[in-house]
Amino acid sequence: MSAIGYMLWLASMGGVAPPPADDPLTRPIAASRAAEWLAPAPPEKIFGTSYLVGFGGMSVALIDTGAGLVLIDGALPQAAPAILANVRTLGFDPKDIKYILSTEPHFDHAGGLAALARDTRATVVASARGAEGLRAGKHAADDPQLGYGGSWPAVTRLRVVKDGEILKLGETAINAVATPGHTMGSMSWRWQACEGTTCKAIVFAASLNPVTAPGYRYTSKPGALFVRAFEESYRKVDAMPCDVLISAHPDNAGDGRTNDTPGACRAYADRSRKLLAKRLDEERAGKVK
Ligand SMILES: [Zn+2]
Repeated sequence: MSAIGYMLWLASMGGVAPPPADDPLTRPIAASRAAEWLAPAPPEKIFGTSYLVGFGGMSVALIDTGAGLVLIDGALPQAAPAILANVRTLGFDPKDIKYILSTEPHFDHAGGLAALARDTRATVVASARGAEGLRAGKHAADDPQLGYGGSWPAVTRLRVVKDGEILKLGETAINAVATPGHTMGSMSWRWQACEGTTCKAIVFAASLNPVTAPGYRYTSKPGALFVRAFEESYRKVDAMPCDVLISAHPDNAGDGRTNDTPGACRAYADRSRKLLAKRLDEERAGKVK
């Protein structure tokens, strides 16, 4: 075979490109539910200039503010390239992403933030306690899931926002709503999306469910702080303007990728409220390992 013939053959075999270098920021975290969480899903418009760019079992949202893009959550490290591909499929340039908002410092929602921030040069935005976990790339010392251990790529460029603070970009004002409980740093995000004169309140809700590593007790002294945080967060979510709910894990909010039925946020809070009550009953009855 001639040199040119060999090169043509190599090209036809797809053999000319070097294998992708091992990228520490997108190195897969193996989790038993990773395939289910990251089930491919086409990017989809929610309302106005708000979109879903995540997966079947893991929400990632995109807002086009007219003065730059905002992404919410980063899923697992290995998810980052697919998120950016979804952004491109919608006709946007990932380089226009200015902010990436974080709902909680856990690997399944925050593992991809470091790669996304590197590839887009965006600033990651989180609560103070959330930022602490993101900078460390591991659970906070008081996290009920601390016992699971593990780590994920750490985020370096962060902006901290307080409860009630408004992040403004272009025409879009995004409200930071602290919803601690699942983690002390959990933050939900709310904004208005408009089509003509019709506007809808969109809520990207952090996980509100009580999940712990074995041995943790919400009935312990530190656990009681989380119970109080949950209760206050449930009341906040109950009262939030909420025409469309996106929950960090879509299956916690209903059957679809979003829930636009009346009372979607109240139902979301109520689901977790019941789970927490059940868990507390089980702890008191000595039924929790
Ligand atoms: Zn979590």
